[in-house]
Amino acid sequence: MKSIPAMHRVLADDRVAPYDVLLGRNAVKRAAEEALGRARASGAADYDAIVDELTDRLETMRQETLRVVINGTGIILNTNLGRAPLATDALHAVEAIATGYTNLEYDLSRGERGSRYARLAGVLNAVTGAQDSLVVNNCAAAVLLVLDTFAKGREVIVARNQLVEIGGGFRIPDVLARSGATLIEVGTTNRTYVEDFERALSPRTALLLRTHPSNYRIEGFTRDVSARELVELGRRTGVPVVEDLGSGALVDLAEFGIAPEPTVQEAVAAGIGLVTFSGDKLLGGPQAGVVAGKAHLIAPLKNNPLLRALRVGKMTLAALDSTLQCYRSGTFRERLPVVRMLAATIAELRHRGGAYLAALPNARLTESDAYVGGGSLAAERIASIAVAFESGNPDRLAARLREATLPIVGRVERGRLLLDLRTILPADDGAAIATLVGVMSPA
Ligand SMILES: *Cc1c(COP(=O)(O)O)cnc(C)c1O
Repeated sequence: MKSIPAMHRVLADDRVAPYDVLLGRNAVKRAAEEALGRARASGAADYDAIVDELTDRLETMRQETLRVVINGTGIILNTNLGRAPLATDALHAVEAIATGYTNLEYDLSRGERGSRYARLAGVLNAVTGAQDSLVVNNCAAAVLLVLDTFAKGREVIVARNQLVEIGGGFRIPDVLARSGATLIEVGTTNRTYVEDFERALSPRTALLLRTHPSNYRIEGFTRDVSARELVELGRRTGVPVVEDLGSGALVDLAEFGIAPEPTVQEAVAAGIGLVTFSGDKLLGGPQAGVVAGKAHLIAPLKNNPLLRALRVGKMTLAALDSTLQCYRSGTFRERLPVVRMLAATIAELRHRGGAYLAALPNARLTESDAYVGGGSLAAERIASIAVAFESGNPDRLAARLREATLPIVGRVERGRLLLDLRTILPADDGAAIATLVGVMSPA
């Protein structure tokens, strides 16, 4: 029997050693033990074959971990790529809060237990105009909490044209069923009137619900019930109105030449009782869900035992707080990456593209369509600039870029690979170019 190579020799091999930094010495050691064990069992002791098998395994492990990627898809709020990149200030806030102790659930003035859910109520109320607010893990959790609190065993009236699936399997009818509420659909696929809601009212009605149709749009002969109409009906009949906004824009997007999206402030000002929205969509913060609205409707949410299962961590609260402070102080245009991406001009994108062209002889710049994504305004196009690669097999090039040490995700369109500059953070241009040069140069 040939002798199995020594562990220390395998670990010191130039092909294996770089994985120490990437995966940790212990993980590499364990994988090496397994590879040597298999070699021993099968009696196959060829040194290179063992190292090849080991590096394949280590490479797979590396691909599986959570890693930094460059988003060249042009979709700003790309759920697959982690939605909103955090602001540097938010990151510093997380660091400060997470590396020590905090008043997470401690009331400093009274010296007794406080509530984590209400930690951000001050800034949220200031920014949204709501009387009170509550933070949970994501917007789906916010909707679930609201329905579970108010509608269990009762009825919720929703317009048929708003009963959509927003991706990731989130469907209002399913969440309603899960919370034990009965869905009462009103209107037709294209047209709904406030009278449709009124006719469906019964003593069992718990809520009137509006949802953001998100990534779906009905055009042509359509009619929707406005927030004001629904609020007026709610006022007359004493039934609370809830609106799931999803994206939670806190600024008027018309400023960036994008179709206006109802803001949280507008929904609150229209008199909606409870508004739910995400932290990591247009708001530009961490994954979180917010319920903002009238104090007498927020109060029962705080007493729902389900809240415990939906609770947010201190790192989320720190990042969300910092992000919201950017809106309060009016510095969101400079500080929030999502807003900067929305605001970048074509001239700025072209200027950045020059650096790509200088380093990559086979690249050229082309006009492209970027998208907001993330549910709301998913189909709303934003004129953009992409670096295009037209020669060779675009799918193969796309695959090689995805598998690079710093993966770059682009999109293949009409036989070309496009890397949209709007979603590549300017600070990443240098690293992206270096990766592209590495992948393009013949090995
Ligand atoms: C995105 C979205 C949600 C879900 O938000 P998460 O934060 O991902 O849970 C719910 N409702 C609408 C309308 C959305 O657009």
